[in-house]
Amino acid sequence: LTLDLSNHVALVTGASSGIGAATAKALGAAGATVVVNYRSEREGAEAVCAAIRAAGSEALAVQADVSSEADVEALFAAAKEAFGTIHILVANAGLQRDAAAHEMTLDQWRRVIDVNLTGQFLCCRAAIREFLARGPQPAISRATGKIVCMSSVHEVIMWAGHVNYAASKGGVKLLMQSLAQEYADRGIRINSIAPGAIRTPINREAWDTPEALAKLLTLIPYGRIGEPEDVARAALWLASDLSDYVTGTTLFVDGGMTLYPGFRENG
Ligand code: NAD
Repeated sequence: LTLDLSNHVALVTGASSGIGAATAKALGAAGATVVVNYRSEREGAEAVCAAIRAAGSEALAVQADVSSEADVEALFAAAKEAFGTIHILVANAGLQRDAAAHEMTLDQWRRVIDVNLTGQFLCCRAAIREFLARGPQPAISRATGKIVCMSSVHEVIMWAGHVNYAASKGGVKLLMQSLAQEYADRGIRINSIAPGAIRTPINREAWDTPEALAKLLTLIPYGRIGEPEDVARAALWLASDLSDYVTGTTLFVDGGMTLYPGFRENG
């Protein structure tokens, strides 16, 4: 077994920047044809496609808002029309709308749940429907289909000031595990990645000044901020047959953030 993804079609949501962009490129470099979903950053998505093509794989940018059922259906239909089927979904799109809980508007709550949790459900449902309709292709992969959900360390670490985000990622944990339990007997593997602090646009204020970065590093035993490629390599492994027999698990890619580093000094 290898990391080779030749003859696989992968769909990555929110792939015009950050972790999604790095993951789309890593899957393409491993030989997969990649559908690069974006919501509004068309140029970013086209740049990711160009990088994938330059490395020798096919790529297609498709606009869709993952919180819209109609958009998600159209996204998967476009992928099927272009490439016949999909074998890998990386449900990565996500956002934050931060506020103290007593000041959070219903719109802020709903937007985060709609994108981060309902969006993952809609994409997983569409992928699973396609995997079941297509059936196994043992010449391509041991699994009939593979899904990687982008969760967060905040599926386990509670997060004041971000109740909508923490609730969405806690929801992703049991969404992923319940789907994994439901479809393992059909050859579908479903796992999550829980990134710690990764240098992307979503958390720029946490790393773009020396003071902010120094404060952030007190939370990271491994002593550096994560890069999108750290997460992309984990996603590649989970999407390949090298991780065959792994399903229903969350892989933490966090430099030890969930090791409760405060207890190192104060325990
Ligand atoms: P990012 O902002 O670069 O990426 C998020 C992507 O999702 C963007 O490209 C954005 O356009 C897209 N997106 C947002 N709403 C969308 C929608 N409705 N439909 C389609 N796409 C949409 O930030 P990132 O850090 O790369 O985030 C990727 C994922 O990783 C998110 O799910 C995030 O919660 C998760 N994550 C990030 C970190 C981190 O430290 N950066 C940590 C834990 C988890």
